[in-house]
Amino acid sequence: MTMQHVFPTYQRFPFAITDGQGVHLTDNHGKTYLDFTAGIGVCNFGYHQPQIQAAVTQQLTHIWHTSNLYENELQDAVAGLLANGEERLVYFANSGTEANEAALKLARKYTGKTGILAFQHSFHGRTYGAMSMTGNPHIQAGYAPLVPGITFATYNDDAALDKITPELAAVILEVVQGEGGVFAGRTAWLQAVNAKCQATGVLLIIDEVQTGIGRTGYRMAYEGYGLDPDIYTVAKGLANGLPVGAMVGRRQLATAFGPGSHGSTFAGNAVAMAAAKRVLTQLTPALLTTVRAHAELVWQALATQVEPIPVVKQITGKGLMIGIHLDEQIPVNQVITRLQVEGLLTLSAGDNTLRLLPPIVMQPADLLAGIALIAKVLTTLTTEVTTNE
Ligand code: PLP
Repeated sequence: MTMQHVFPTYQRFPFAITDGQGVHLTDNHGKTYLDFTAGIGVCNFGYHQPQIQAAVTQQLTHIWHTSNLYENELQDAVAGLLANGEERLVYFANSGTEANEAALKLARKYTGKTGILAFQHSFHGRTYGAMSMTGNPHIQAGYAPLVPGITFATYNDDAALDKITPELAAVILEVVQGEGGVFAGRTAWLQAVNAKCQATGVLLIIDEVQTGIGRTGYRMAYEGYGLDPDIYTVAKGLANGLPVGAMVGRRQLATAFGPGSHGSTFAGNAVAMAAAKRVLTQLTPALLTTVRAHAELVWQALATQVEPIPVVKQITGKGLMIGIHLDEQIPVNQVITRLQVEGLLTLSAGDNTLRLLPPIVMQPADLLAGIALIAKVLTTLTTEVTTNE
């Protein structure tokens, strides 16, 4: 099957995923895989998760869509769960990009300032605003002119602190840069950025689209670093596979986001909200403790089995968000294809990096089996490269 009728914006592998159960997927040839992708950090609770499935199925028998012209108890319940006891309000969107777009608009409107500081190798999405804040020239190529007023600094660099001045409306960052290569921020640096924003009256926007919903072992990754953003954005895992995004901001920002200031037809869609409510209810402190414990086992296995392999340059990330940086002799797509043959689905990121985003509910036996397969394939490829030299 080669796709004939869709713009070729995605580089696709030559098979289709047709079903999933738990943490396993099946393709159109009947082959099954252990899933270390979670649909790029989306299906954090795996596939056909009974409670989420029941919540969605039940909502489908009631109402799918109502528009945002009426009060909506379900949206308010999800927003309350996202606020998590803090004085925060939520704007719902349909994707991570849209959540970031909302954050950009709110930051400019609330502060009356235009400057935004973003970081090199960041990824915030592909609409004009989100793309303009994305520190990757490949993603911006051909689309000039971009949204003005956005500048970039080096991630994890103390010199970036000097660029946070009162003229800015906001600073936007990922706590772990995902698409850029799975690079975690240094705790001291992230805290210094947060403090400098507070001292200069600049809003801090944290993009939790990939890092949120348990991915790093915390509800939101920023919680694990002791940060206090003015705004954070979340999407991907929020409804475990249904399209949704959310921007969560301090309550006082509401003065700039009154009726008519922003909106979207599908935003806060009832079916997506039913899934999101169930996801957030299941994202308990006990589950997060378990995720951190399982991640610990994975990092130990990576240190002993994968890190010593000569083609592995370094392993980065946090929790169950992992980047295995490979020597350029071994193209990451070759590794991904070999792993597919072995029955493991993985991702790439940044510069020749194998990215792992397993469902956060995956049990240690499956996590460790996946790591062992990666070690096996990387060892084989190392041998092949050295033999051919
Ligand atoms: N922000 C981050 C950190 C992301 O990783 C992504 C997607 O990969 C986005 C924003 C864009 O989200 P979406 O693809 O849902 O628009």
